[in-house]
Amino acid sequence: MADVLVLGGGFGGLAAAHELRRRLPSDDTVTVIAARDTFFVGFAKLWELSGLRPLADGTRSLSALDQHGIRFVHADITAIDAGARSVGTSAGAFTADAMVIALGAGYQQKHTALLGEHAHNLYDATALPGIRADLDALTSGTLLVSILGAPYLCPPAPFEAALLLDEWLRANGRRDQVDVVVSTPQPLTLPVAGPDASHFLAERLTERGVTVLTEHPVESVDHAAGLARFSDDRSREFQLMLGVPAAAPLPVVAASDVASESGWIKPDRSMFATSADRVYAVGDCTMVPTATAQLPKAGVFAEAEGLVAAANVAADLHGGERESFDGYGYCFLELPGQRVAKVEGDFYAEPKPDVALTPPDEAAFTAKQQWERERLAAWLG
Ligand SMILES: Cc1cc2nc3c(=O)[nH]c(=O)nc-3n(C[C@H](O)[C@H](O)[C@H](O)COP(=O)(O)OP(=O)(O)OC[C@H]3O[C@@H](n4cnc5c(N)ncnc54)[C@H](O)[C@@H]3O)c2cc1C
Repeated sequence: MADVLVLGGGFGGLAAAHELRRRLPSDDTVTVIAARDTFFVGFAKLWELSGLRPLADGTRSLSALDQHGIRFVHADITAIDAGARSVGTSAGAFTADAMVIALGAGYQQKHTALLGEHAHNLYDATALPGIRADLDALTSGTLLVSILGAPYLCPPAPFEAALLLDEWLRANGRRDQVDVVVSTPQPLTLPVAGPDASHFLAERLTERGVTVLTEHPVESVDHAAGLARFSDDRSREFQLMLGVPAAAPLPVVAASDVASESGWIKPDRSMFATSADRVYAVGDCTMVPTATAQLPKAGVFAEAEGLVAAANVAADLHGGERESFDGYGYCFLELPGQRVAKVEGDFYAEPKPDVALTPPDEAAFTAKQQWERERLAAWLG
């Protein structure tokens, strides 16, 4: 009999836990430890903001894991000793025969420090009521969506937010009075997807009258004046700012014995094994190199990696085939009119990722909704 710990109940953790349960004998235990006792997909936050659906309707409790033969411990992990395969938590210490670390990422503190009363973190679910109140009060001026640094989670999401809110403002008869501006410190809208996809996205933004400011790193924000200051003495007034901080390693991950100097875990990009025996790391807590940059921090990749890690844990414990990740994946790009495109392909290709944009259509939007429903039902139904 073996015990397996899965740290984190997000995309990577839930995919790994279910795959472990499927592969391991029934007297092996699978335990998920997570600080948040619910799960929702990231894009459900944008659906709440755009008025498509309340976040609560896409939120499920991790307590449902028990019905699937997976133990759920609702606790804060405070220390990870991967060498000993043990963790310290607010609910006591746990030790296991194998471990999958899937704790996600935090935010760069210097970026969250730029936020304030009418300048919210677009990615933080707890900020949604404040954003909603400010959107309801926004009748004129500028809505500024600002990418504050890279890498950040789900590269298309800030642009999707600008487009979905453009649509919401039009539906509410306010778009003529409200400018929508999106800024990024990067030279292209979507460097990870290459110039063609970036130009396609920039054109979609421009045709909706959304101003795109590339190479505009925000240096400071004057909240009293409602002014974002960029490098080179450039600035932009705003009534509402939605900031996207760069991702940062969580302190508990950075302090662990499998973290690299940067604080990210760098597992091997095929098996997702770490330097510690029978300890794997997947999803946003990792930094996985590609030929030109890093694998995007996205749920699609966290899930694929979680499945691979689970298969390899099962092989470690009981023998059998090992699995490896081939670098294939995609990011959704949601456009107005309930249409979705995908940036899809081989992110491990050499000498550069071989990814292309699929044309947007309504069928892909329906498929995206189905994608969410399937995961909520399979993992927490
Ligand atoms: C607005 C938005 C839109 C997005 N759209 C998409 C999209 O269309 N497609 C896509 O693929 N991705 C999308 N993403 C990105 C996606 O949500 C993340 O990349 C994904 O959630 C990463 O999965 P993960 O398992 O690595 O981490 P997470 O899902 O963040 O899970 C981390 C888990 O670890 C737990 N945890 C963290 N710290 C501790 C601790 N100290 N102790 C105990 N537990 C802890 C958390 O409670 C959580 O259960 C979007 C993100 C946002 C914000």
